[in-house]
Amino acid sequence: MSTEQTLILVKPDGVAAGHIGDVISRLEGKGYVIAGLKVVAKATDAQLRQHYADKVTKAYFPELVDYMQSGPLVAIIAEGVNVVAAFRQIAGVTNPDEAAPGSIRGDYGRSWADGAIRNVVHSSDSPEAAKHEMQIWFPELNLNS
Ligand code: GDP
Ligand code: MG
Repeated sequence: MSTEQTLILVKPDGVAAGHIGDVISRLEGKGYVIAGLKVVAKATDAQLRQHYADKVTKAYFPELVDYMQSGPLVAIIAEGVNVVAAFRQIAGVTNPDEAAPGSIRGDYGRSWADGAIRNVVHSSDSPEAAKHEMQIWFPELNLNS
């Protein structure tokens, strides 16, 4: 297996609740390399339309944008063999009520009365998606060239 990279976002709820360090600790604890790290004060509409390109037609997309713009987020590039799939396990499934205890979403996320799914972190679902997403959040790395 070859080394690959994944794009992780600590979403605004995760930043507000103080989980940046936990996410980084879990990555470092497993021995993955942190290859990129930044605070994004507020995600732009353009960034979110690119990042969630397959979600723009969903009824919940405006809600998702509001959530992702509700505060600062932290973008991370993590590197290692099989890190894409491995971090999806560490994050847990999309619905935080169903995410396994011990996963990030299982430990820190839950559903709320307003119907929002606030699930603490994003992570790429394939190495190809990771390349696309890294260009959105780390354009200065010129990953296209
Ligand atoms: P992920 O890859 O596990 O993050 O899940 P998806 O790619 O399916 O969805 C992306 C993000 O959109 C999720 O992490 C949620 O924040 C949000 N989302 C997905 N489904 C819903 C939904 O039915 N309602 C709302 N409000 N948000 C959703
Ligand atoms: Mg996804």
